[in-house]
Amino acid sequence: MTSSDPSTPPQARSADSIRQLLALDAEHVWHPYGPMPGTVAPLLVEEAHGVRLRLADGRELVDGMSSWWSAIHGYRHPALDAALTEQAGRMSHVMFGGLTHEPAIRLATTLADITPGELRHVFLCDSGSVSVEVAIKMCLQYWRSLGRRGKSRLLTWRGGYHGDTFHPMSVCDPEGGMHALWRGVLPEQLFVPAPPAGFGAEPDRAYVEELVRTVERHADELAAVIVEPVVQGAGGMRFHNPEYLRVLREVTEACDVLLVFDEIATGFGRTGELFAAEHAGVCPDVLCVGKALTGGYLTMAAALCTPRVARGISAGEVPVLAHGPTFMGNPLAAAVANASVDLLADGSWRADVARIEAGLRTGLAPAAAVPGVVDVRVLGGIGVVQLDHQVDAAAATEALTARGVWLRPFRDLIYTMPPYVCDDTDVAAIAGAMVAAARVA
Ligand SMILES: *Cc1c(COP(=O)(O)O)cnc(C)c1O
Repeated sequence: MTSSDPSTPPQARSADSIRQLLALDAEHVWHPYGPMPGTVAPLLVEEAHGVRLRLADGRELVDGMSSWWSAIHGYRHPALDAALTEQAGRMSHVMFGGLTHEPAIRLATTLADITPGELRHVFLCDSGSVSVEVAIKMCLQYWRSLGRRGKSRLLTWRGGYHGDTFHPMSVCDPEGGMHALWRGVLPEQLFVPAPPAGFGAEPDRAYVEELVRTVERHADELAAVIVEPVVQGAGGMRFHNPEYLRVLREVTEACDVLLVFDEIATGFGRTGELFAAEHAGVCPDVLCVGKALTGGYLTMAAALCTPRVARGISAGEVPVLAHGPTFMGNPLAAAVANASVDLLADGSWRADVARIEAGLRTGLAPAAAVPGVVDVRVLGGIGVVQLDHQVDAAAATEALTARGVWLRPFRDLIYTMPPYVCDDTDVAAIAGAMVAAARVA
């Protein structure tokens, strides 16, 4: 029996050892969106199993974040563990230039199969941000190849998030993305207001008109429109009516502008459809996937494009896409991604996401009556409680962990995107903890 066997009683690390590790962490380890040295001590995780994280002090927390929305099947899933081990027994990595392998071939073929429409060509990337870089490079190069260099800007709506490297940052929400700090460095893109809120809200005619007019007016300088379909994630966890995506598809087609959907957060079932584009019944020219692609095991993302985009690039003066990360197509990541996507193949995730959606609706309803709560919204496996002020993160985290739940509130939001394997009790615990956190935050 090993210490990672779930039947072994949890062995807590000594308080001294925890203190030492966290002191070294604060001294040397830069954490996401944090200062250096760090000011808030992170929780030390020893292992994870199913939907639970086990902390070094022996506490267990239900992970309502799915490790930043990626661990959709939970931790240590036998099929994913087996795929990884089996692949490690063959090769962990080989370069992708001049060489290829079955895990990557199978993954690209499956992605081309399961994504909407004509997205037949797949560029494997190391992370979501890199896939957005590649998607943008595809679009810019497409127009250069056709001799239309003037088409080099991007249009998006406010409230978006597309990653932390520079080109993706340029299409993030200007305020959330700190564009003022980066003036003079970031390319200046075109922004329209954020889409009116509400998945089921009536489409706003004035907004539709503004979208259409802006694309038409700037068509000569626009390479592409890039948006997160249906759910804007890290930019504010906002939902919108899929009708706006149909409008974007129509006007971009009419104006000779490419359309990019960033489904890094929404892909693989999170919103109740396998891809959020399916809510609108439209297909973009370029699609980014990431996060849940490997079931949260390893870093991998992909940019997919249509034959039109690929042919355009190949017809140019420089007929190649000059991009090739060292760890491109990593066989371990591809093997575990294949196993993760296979787990979705029988469609049982639909019932799980619907069950989680129902559980969150019921469990979060009492939050609407909490003073300071301005909105409670649920879509698929996403539950959001929005306050009228910045969340007191320390108080919220304490209330959540006291109830055995891990979440990471940000700005004015307490939200969850739990693993699809969360049972009803776990979902109720997450929702109950969110209501409690809203009371103290
Ligand atoms: C997380 C995310 C990214 C960035 O992906 P990384 O793997 O963190 O680089 C880009 N777009 C969206 C919509 C995301 O949610």
